[in-house]
Amino acid sequence: MDRMSDDRLRRACSSLIGLALGDALGSQFFVPSNRPYLDERALPPAPWQWTDDTEMACSIHLTLAVHGRIDQDVLAASFAERHDFDRGYGPATNRMLRLVREGGDWRKLASELFDGNGSWGNGAAMRVAPLGAYFADDLDEAARQAALSATVTHTHPEAVAGAIAVAVASGLAADGDWRPGPFIDRVLEYVPDGRVRDGVREARHLLTVSDAETAAYVLGNGRAVAAHDTVPFTIWVAARHRDDFERAVWATASAGGDVDTTCAIVGGIVAAGLKPGELPAEWLAAAEPLPHWSRCRA
Ligand SMILES: [Mg+2]
Repeated sequence: MDRMSDDRLRRACSSLIGLALGDALGSQFFVPSNRPYLDERALPPAPWQWTDDTEMACSIHLTLAVHGRIDQDVLAASFAERHDFDRGYGPATNRMLRLVREGGDWRKLASELFDGNGSWGNGAAMRVAPLGAYFADDLDEAARQAALSATVTHTHPEAVAGAIAVAVASGLAADGDWRPGPFIDRVLEYVPDGRVRDGVREARHLLTVSDAETAAYVLGNGRAVAAHDTVPFTIWVAARHRDDFERAVWATASAGGDVDTTCAIVGGIVAAGLKPGELPAEWLAAAEPLPHWSRCRA
């Protein structure tokens, strides 16, 4: 393997581990008895299982490790083959991946969702941070490949825009030391017009706010599981707390909502700028390890 793809995979793997840690911790707070841990910012009892966010991100990492780009047929086949019903997928994705596994055409199934509008859910954004880290040396390519990775399941333009925003943010986090305002300005250069873009612009204005719950109140916390209700807040957190992985994930969790997914996105972006050794050891010990097939190990 050449040096560039080596570097690319190292960044993508670091991002994937951070994504899994965010997902695994965030999902613990759906367990009612764990709520006091969130209030105290204390780690809940191990083990923490990761969910669909991580499972799908592992397929993206595997596809990049093998092909160096997103081959949509390969990615769709991997999503379907690895699909574990008990990982908290949404009902539309559960049905679609089952049909793909039974021989259905992912292009047709994805575009037919929601009366032919395609899904604008946050599922394309939740899994894409490792891809952005991989293409950190070429953000145009990061945006293009993010769109390809999105439309395998999410064809609505808002879902695609959400994936682009997260991938570019992750690429930026991997590649430089950006102050919060310029960080979001750079993300906006790549995000097409629409509700996600409007939300990310709003996140830029809200950088004057220091409290994540207030930011989420305005931007959304993923409660509607839509790209535009999820991604702007995660970009806000990543911009503000890019230098502190634990603080970033706790700030995200404190806002509630679709907390495994918001924490997965933020964890994936922030970890893109870290080496695996810089991630918190206690979290790594508590979280379920990544599967061998992902080709990324902590
Ligand atoms: Mg999930």
